[in-house]
Amino acid sequence: MASQAPRDSAAGRSGIDDRQPVLAVVGRPNVGKSTLVNRILGRRAAVVEDVPGVTRDRVAYDATWNGRRFVVVDTGGWEPDARGLAARVAEQARAALDTADAVLFVVDTTVGATDADEAVARVLHRSGLPVVLAANKVDDSRGEADAATLWSLGLGEPYPVSSLHGRGSGDLLDAILEALPPAPRERFEEIDGPRRVALLGKPNVGKSSLLNRLAGTQRSLVHDVAGTTRDPVDELVTVGGETWKFVDTAGLRRRVREASGAEYYSSLRTAAALEAAEVAIVLLDASESLTEQDQRVITMVVEAGRALVLAFNKWDLLDEDRRLTLEREIVRDLGRVAWAPRVNVSAATGRAVDRLAPALRTSLESWGTRISTGRLNAWLGEVVAATPPPSRGGRLPRVLFATQAGVRPPRFVIFSTGFLEPAYRRFLERRLREDFGFAGTPIEISVRVRE
Ligand code: GDP
Ligand code: GDP
Repeated sequence: MASQAPRDSAAGRSGIDDRQPVLAVVGRPNVGKSTLVNRILGRRAAVVEDVPGVTRDRVAYDATWNGRRFVVVDTGGWEPDARGLAARVAEQARAALDTADAVLFVVDTTVGATDADEAVARVLHRSGLPVVLAANKVDDSRGEADAATLWSLGLGEPYPVSSLHGRGSGDLLDAILEALPPAPRERFEEIDGPRRVALLGKPNVGKSSLLNRLAGTQRSLVHDVAGTTRDPVDELVTVGGETWKFVDTAGLRRRVREASGAEYYSSLRTAAALEAAEVAIVLLDASESLTEQDQRVITMVVEAGRALVLAFNKWDLLDEDRRLTLEREIVRDLGRVAWAPRVNVSAATGRAVDRLAPALRTSLESWGTRISTGRLNAWLGEVVAATPPPSRGGRLPRVLFATQAGVRPPRFVIFSTGFLEPAYRRFLERRLREDFGFAGTPIEISVRVRE
């Protein structure tokens, strides 16, 4: 249950609430768990390869039913050992619950409830998690009476189903959706129309010059609907054959320079623009050293979770010396956003302004990228096997699996048995970027830990 897991203090603003809900599938060996999982995944099973999860006993897949997405974690694949089947199955079920929002408990109706099934039922009952009971192997109506005997497990209505033939699987899936918490809402809702760009940077860096350069003669102001006293806020500009909406450009045009409190107002303005934008162009003055104020603007973009393009303006003023010091400054001061595309432009001469549009497209594409759970876990399994997380307080946290909770920006949730150090999280982010790209977008990684 989400509320049982301690919130990871280092988690992003999104925390863990907006991840995809997780369904754990538990049951004895041979009751038909894998068959049922394939049934739930439908045709997708053929596409999603049977990639082993991070640990050998877990495999996670993306599933969709009636337009709702959730993650299915199959806990099968273990061998009973000397400690006895019932104990082992119960333990397995317990482990599965740590990461689940709901449980699909599969029982073989042709066998009936065994001791092991009853042990699992007790664990599930105590967990308080919603449970859907699948009475499997009911291939025809004759099995339905047997399915009804499974009421004895005390877990509510048994859903008769034939994983093999599909019988009853629609009703079962409906029950599963009922049991899962509502599907997460994307933090950033898709809005039709031109992509929204914020043009940001400290005063005098060349924002209005660049906007004028980009807009040329085909300028079109979008007036604030409600505002009669306010300035036009958005501006449609065609760049690279595509129309973009530059948001909140009034301040750029008006050229008001408050004598005091200017920075405060400009940061409010920046925040407002970011709120409305999907991607930001942060304009930097290439002819001067990077400043605190530049850093602050970049931080605001990253923290707002928006896609980012860095544009070094006034490139026409650069001599060879400055170019070399700038390279050093970039390495020294902009390492944390090394993933952002950089474009060297001159609003004055028009140099390379045509490279802004491709950079914007790259960043926006990364911003909306989703990696399937199967692919993500195949990757995570390799990375964690090669470089396991460091131990903490003498205990080695075990990484169980990961899902991508959302996009815009990409957000990942890693399930593990212990706290993962920020350094290890950064390592995972670095590897994610190396292997999947994500040029131009911040990514968030949060960790969900069991107590
Ligand atoms: P798991 O160990 O729980 O993952 O079980 P499997 O999915 O591997 O299934 C075990 C066996 O039961 C396989 O031979 C399946 O073909 C069979 N099986 C699974 N579901 C059904 C079903 O609904 N009806 C019948 N008759 N056999 C099934
Ligand atoms: P804003 O405050 O960020 O909107 O900056 P402005 O567009 O008003 O530009 C500030 C000053 O920098 C003006 O004098 C511009 O002419 C100058 N400027 C802007 N872009 C460039 C550029 O690419 N090269 C040079 N040499 N000057 C520029």
